[in-house]
Amino acid sequence: MYNVNSHIAEEFIDEGEILDTLEYASRNRNNRPLIESILDKAALCKGLSHREAAVLLDCEIPDLVERTFHLAEEIKKKLYGNRIVLFAPLYLSNYCVNGCIYCPYHAKNRHIPRRKLTQEEIRQEVIALQDMGHKRLALELGEHPVENPIEYVLESIRTIYSIHHRNGDIRRVNINIAATTVENYRKLRDAGIGTYILFQETYNKQKYRMLHPTGPKSDYAYHTEAMDRAREGGIDDMGIGVLFGLSGYRYDLVGLLMHAEHMEAALGVGPHTISVPRIRPADDVDTEEFSDAVPDEKFLHIVAVIRCAVPYTGMIISTRESAKVREKVLDLGISQISGASRTSVGGYTVEERNEDTAQFELADRRSLDEVVKWLIDLGYIPSFCTACYRAGRTGERFMKICKGGKIQDCCTPNAILTLKEYLLDYASAQTQKAGEELIRQETEKINNGTLRASLREDLTSLEKGERDLRY
Ligand code: SF4
Ligand code: SF4
Repeated sequence: MYNVNSHIAEEFIDEGEILDTLEYASRNRNNRPLIESILDKAALCKGLSHREAAVLLDCEIPDLVERTFHLAEEIKKKLYGNRIVLFAPLYLSNYCVNGCIYCPYHAKNRHIPRRKLTQEEIRQEVIALQDMGHKRLALELGEHPVENPIEYVLESIRTIYSIHHRNGDIRRVNINIAATTVENYRKLRDAGIGTYILFQETYNKQKYRMLHPTGPKSDYAYHTEAMDRAREGGIDDMGIGVLFGLSGYRYDLVGLLMHAEHMEAALGVGPHTISVPRIRPADDVDTEEFSDAVPDEKFLHIVAVIRCAVPYTGMIISTRESAKVREKVLDLGISQISGASRTSVGGYTVEERNEDTAQFELADRRSLDEVVKWLIDLGYIPSFCTACYRAGRTGERFMKICKGGKIQDCCTPNAILTLKEYLLDYASAQTQKAGEELIRQETEKINNGTLRASLREDLTSLEKGERDLRY
């Protein structure tokens, strides 16, 4: 029985409710008055229910689909402005005891080389990332109680935060590790992580079982209830996501939104981020075998519907997507992207991209400087901001500011300051020139005179050598 407040996976992700929702969406996909009323509601930036979102996704009436896309763009501009936050994944270890059939790290893959970084190797990787200009990392590692125990993760986080190479530092470490215990979540919180990220992969229980035949991750309920335990362990910034293409996207979108509704209702805080990865080829993974692959056009529609449904949640896209797709989804609601990623263990310290331990093939292989310049040319402010979590703006407090439409007042000046740091310390001459012009224009646009004056003072302080200024 569906119960949004329950802590039992099968109740807050109730299959009956998902199937009813899909049937309702299918019945109403041509119901113009209903769809228009849903769009009017979305325009208020207060979000949509999973049923309303499912109808929007099923609708194929051209002018209404067009309106959904426009609305997503407007909501994004209104809440987040034109900043795009940049981050990089850091793969610590590809040892894994699970059997996920879509991932080359699965335990039965005997020909992939297994690697785990030592603390010294992590140091080298972090220096390479800092020298590119990165300030925000997402740690990735497989589930392996012997090779990757929680102590290894905690030690790695300490190592990462302790490194300050030249003007560089990593100011926020987000972490993507397997579902774990309340006690371990508490340890992660105490270690100062940013967001705890865990993708559901698919909400379809039958499909989930087929895709995860062995290992601890095969326990659907334990995996699905991870955010409830994370919250109990004191974590209040949590990121969810679906690996689109593993199962039917309609089902998974509804499940994803039900999960977000559950988090808000039962945990007191909705997801901080939603990631929208799509399955990519990799060693021992043939995407041809996944018949639910999502075509580009539908993928854009999914992003737009999520933006309308959960306007307060950041949306993330990785280098799994090509520059072309990334450009399109930036307008539709994506607020964070990875840049210059290497998805192999130890990938940042090798000259040539060594991809024998890669988790998936990259579709966007540009350098960070190229990505920064590309964003500037598109009119976005590339941001290396990590301010909220360090200023205690997390969980409910963050959501309150965001829902009040006020987060942009922090995002824009912080984006300008962190871009300025990047230009001073890491950018090519070409990017520097374009970036300085963007900073001039964006500072000019700030209406609040006191804020504008203070920002100008801070920009001068950065030129004089100060670093890490924030609002
Ligand atoms: S998806 Fe994660 S848990 Fe599954 S095999 Fe890959 S690394 Fe292991
Ligand atoms: S001000 Fe907060 S929400 Fe905005 S970019 Fe910085 S950390 Fe993110």
